[in-house]
Amino acid sequence: MKKQKLAILGSTGSIGTQALDIVRQHPDKFEVIVLTANSNWKLLAEQVKEFNPKYALIGNKSHAKDLENECSQTNILNGKEHLPELASLNSVDIVLNALVGYAGFDSTLAAIRADKKIALANKESLVVGGEILTEELKRSEAKLIPVDSEHSAMLQCLAGESWDDIEKIIITASGGPFRAFTKEQMHQVTAEQALDHPNWNMGAKITVDSSTMMNKGLEIIEAHWLFDIPVHKIQPVIHPQSIIHSMITFIDGSSKAQLGLPDMKVPIIYALTYPERLDLDTQRMNWNEILNLTFEPVDFDKFPCVRLAMESIEKGGYAPAILNAANEIAVQRFLNKEIGYIQIPEIVEKSLANIDWNDSLNAETLKEIDKETRTYAKSIIK
Ligand code: NDP
Ligand code: MG
Repeated sequence: MKKQKLAILGSTGSIGTQALDIVRQHPDKFEVIVLTANSNWKLLAEQVKEFNPKYALIGNKSHAKDLENECSQTNILNGKEHLPELASLNSVDIVLNALVGYAGFDSTLAAIRADKKIALANKESLVVGGEILTEELKRSEAKLIPVDSEHSAMLQCLAGESWDDIEKIIITASGGPFRAFTKEQMHQVTAEQALDHPNWNMGAKITVDSSTMMNKGLEIIEAHWLFDIPVHKIQPVIHPQSIIHSMITFIDGSSKAQLGLPDMKVPIIYALTYPERLDLDTQRMNWNEILNLTFEPVDFDKFPCVRLAMESIEKGGYAPAILNAANEIAVQRFLNKEIGYIQIPEIVEKSLANIDWNDSLNAETLKEIDKETRTYAKSIIK
């Protein structure tokens, strides 16, 4: 594998920092060209000093001067609106999109238009604009490789297979911290509890999404677009140990699974090196211990977000973008302790029911519907 030049968008986050650990392990295989953060300029400055990228971007403009003072050797860009430029630089081979939320969409689109290899952690890009992005992909040389562990598992199960032979995708879910809670107990859930995931250590938004299981809903939409599979052929299953990251059943009844300890570095390095593999220094499974792998069906009544996401993609058009924007607002307000936990699916459901939008789907109208939904979701919270 020749040395790959990386743009790491969201380098100060959970995925971004783990990607930089991989670069530290393989300085002969990766070179960092771009690093970006939203407001954590101090960590970004440390990363710039260590990795010496050509460009660094800080989203929150009030920190630009601080960053410039610390990092005089690097070109500093100031403001999120420059992210797509950095995602399409000639000097970059791979764009790792580790931004969170709809904020990542424009960069994915720009990277596709610039024929980049994209390691996509930002699942929301495909949720809000899967149709737009897959159309753009057909016209470009770009490759979209998932970082999400379930989708990486699917891709690994599909190595050497024909996608036409897929009968079903079984997407596993840990069930999060409230898997065994009753519906009544869900009313009392606090932000601290929702941020305490049993198996994975991730950014705040995806951790709350995992607890409501909206994350699994978003991932079903992500799988639908990545593998061109109808939603009724994607079945979510609870697997509390998070060892099997997903399975594929083929038309002859045979199933393949991909296993490993819950460690995001494995799918991150796979996305960066796909279709090759590179050694990774991480903990391995211990097959000398007793291991129980268990499975249970999803309780759609207790976790309405999964149902809402599946309904939104069946409805198509703008519905998944409305689902996503309402969820982003609801999660933010829940973390700010402005709403209760069970209001998250209520706000999403109301937004889906009450926002009507008939314009044709494109990147510009997507921006408008995102804005409109955020305004609506905030108004019902008041
Ligand atoms: P984090 O919140 O930890 O990190 C997000 C990164 O993006 C940070 O660098 C942050 O900067 C930056 N950022 C946040 N908001 C904006 C914005 N509006 N504009 C520009 N930059 C922004 O998130 P994660 O790393 O957990 O997740 C990133 C993506 O990967 C998400 O889409 C998530 O669903 C997906 N993912 C994450 C997994 C995980 O294990 N964490 C697993 C599978 C998927 P700053 O630090 O300055 O705030
Ligand atoms: Mg996942």
